[in-house]
Amino acid sequence: MNDTPSVAERKMQFLFTLRSRGVTEAATLEAMEKVDRGDFVKGLFAERAYEDMPLPIACGQTISQPSVVGLMTQALKVEPRHRVLEVGTGSGYQAAVLAQIARRVYTIDRHPRLVREAEVVFDKMKLGNVTTFVGDGSHGLPDQAPFDRIIVTAAAEDAPGPLLAQMKIGGIMVLPVGQSDTVQSLIRVHRLETGYDYEELRPVRFVPLVEGLAKDE
Ligand code: SAH
Repeated sequence: MNDTPSVAERKMQFLFTLRSRGVTEAATLEAMEKVDRGDFVKGLFAERAYEDMPLPIACGQTISQPSVVGLMTQALKVEPRHRVLEVGTGSGYQAAVLAQIARRVYTIDRHPRLVREAEVVFDKMKLGNVTTFVGDGSHGLPDQAPFDRIIVTAAAEDAPGPLLAQMKIGGIMVLPVGQSDTVQSLIRVHRLETGYDYEELRPVRFVPLVEGLAKDE
């Protein structure tokens, strides 16, 4: 509809930038090609939706940088039969990308408003395999657990215990950890029969994982 040539060009450039920043896995690129980031960015920043930058969304939060979304998606090694938990719905963009690959995505945010707005976009996209929750995602979703994959898109000091407990054996969790808002590492946790294996992937910068439900306006 509003697919003017310049939007099409910007989308091509978007995919090219993803590849050049290390997003090379086919299923991830295909998923990101299908999900229009422009649907998840509103107002003043909408015209920057295809730039590889984090952008402000409501409630003082941010939609992650597309290349980071891509790198996290491919690090998660999602397969079509998987049930995935995302902590930190934000705009809903990461959840929509995961939903192109996984069987079902459960996504939770502490801001009711963000969840409401993301639901509108999921409906518009006719994404039937995303289930949304409002709450403190650091407790996970005990009623839906265990999960094949867990992704956390806000930074904690350490991997939250309840999330580790809600991983399947053989499962993978990808999350940013760090003691400050500025120095964080993206890590990948594998749950083995015998325990957990931690791997450091790269430096990142995310908003903090905050306890409790937010009181929106
Ligand atoms: N994945 C999002 C970006 C998330 S920004 C996207 O694709 O747009 C981080 C989000 O984590 C924010 O929306 C914030 O409200 C949420 N968050 C922070 N702490 C949380 C918690 N304890 N439980 C659930 N969500 C949390």
